[in-house]
Amino acid sequence: MKVASIFQDFLNLIYPSCCEACGMLLVVGERVLCTSCRYKLPRTNYWLQKGNPVEQMFWGRVPVVNACSLFFMGKGSSYRKLLHKLKYSNKPQIGVALGRLLGNELARAADYADVEFIVPIPLHAKRQRKRGYNQSEKIAIGISQATGKPLLTSVVFRQRYNETQTKKTREERWSNVSDIFALRPNAETLLAGKHILLVDDVLTTGSTIEACAVAMLKGASCRISVATLAVAK
Ligand SMILES: [Zn+2]
Repeated sequence: MKVASIFQDFLNLIYPSCCEACGMLLVVGERVLCTSCRYKLPRTNYWLQKGNPVEQMFWGRVPVVNACSLFFMGKGSSYRKLLHKLKYSNKPQIGVALGRLLGNELARAADYADVEFIVPIPLHAKRQRKRGYNQSEKIAIGISQATGKPLLTSVVFRQRYNETQTKKTREERWSNVSDIFALRPNAETLLAGKHILLVDDVLTTGSTIEACAVAMLKGASCRISVATLAVAK
């Protein structure tokens, strides 16, 4: 047991923390989610399924090697709240914890075995300053901890501060994101010949991931797989 986790357990004795999904008090050794909520997470198992519905979302749009999401996000589910808290309630630890769950699955999935780098979808610098962190990067950190694959955060960035994506049609969303990502000068060398895992929090229309993947494939000869925490159901 690491010193940091002993310290965390000690803190939990004084300030007990609760499950972010159901609100029950967490016991020693539990982080972010209680054992029951962790067990009941509606996993997709798409990482084991070639041609799964998440992969199909990208067909005819951008070539991806594999794509999957960890769990289904139904309307009003307690797991939907988790993602909202990750983004808007200053709870980056939710991203790391769920990223680790996703990473544990990917570590055992043959199709993801040759992934070499994990790249989180970048936020615009202005939005990241406002939020204090990039939620996709927190998820990517969790995946990296579970799989042992290194994180790469210096290759792609958002060059345009786009307005919020909600309440837009698929076409409007695409025109809103098509040119917002750009590669940094060292990206071509770093990415050449590599299999990249592109990471985001939620998959809805897929247009943000598509735009980022298109920018990366345009600028470097790499292969891209995609993993998100949740997929809308
Ligand atoms: Zn719970």
